[in-house]
Amino acid sequence: MIKDKIKLLKADITTLRVDAIVNAANTSLLGGGGVDGAIHRAAGPELLDECRTLRGCSTGQAKITRGYRLPAKHVIHTVGPVWHGGRQGEPALLASCYTSSLKLAKENDVKTIAFPAISCGVYGYPVSQAAMIAVKETVTFLEKNPELDSVSFVCFDDDVYEAYQHALDTFTKDEVSK
Ligand code: ADP
Repeated sequence: MIKDKIKLLKADITTLRVDAIVNAANTSLLGGGGVDGAIHRAAGPELLDECRTLRGCSTGQAKITRGYRLPAKHVIHTVGPVWHGGRQGEPALLASCYTSSLKLAKENDVKTIAFPAISCGVYGYPVSQAAMIAVKETVTFLEKNPELDSVSFVCFDDDVYEAYQHALDTFTKDEVSK
């Protein structure tokens, strides 16, 4: 069942021993605050060196690097949209962050992946809407790509955890009857 492959965790994403963790990066890919800063601190300066070679990343796209000193093998850097009220393409761009990251994972033989709540910090995306997009895109991808073993959503804050729990119930509630 798809639901068994999706986990909600309250954790620091930098501590997870998975094939890839996803970074909520900015278009420069040269580091920032929030989860981005935490990932660069834990991975060490070699991560920044590799990121410099990538020449940035557009909003909604993703790029992969090694994980260096992280327990995770890879970091998939994706750039979430800044929330401007929802009428500037934010939902499609956020959905694209998840699908681009999952596609890159598949291409790199990543079987276990963990996402932070992309755009839900400094970028200001309403958490309940962002959680719905994250879960919907992930469920759709897992239906088509059974080779991916597990997708964890790392919920640093309690409101994020509750929003993901609700989204997961919404998108997997009919699964038992299938
Ligand atoms: P964005 O700029 O995309 O909004 P942020 O890093 O500001 O990204 O926040 C994204 C989410 O990541 C927020 O919910 C924030 O609480 C969470 N977060 C911050 N640090 C960590 C961490 N070490 N592990 C997991 N999630 C984190």
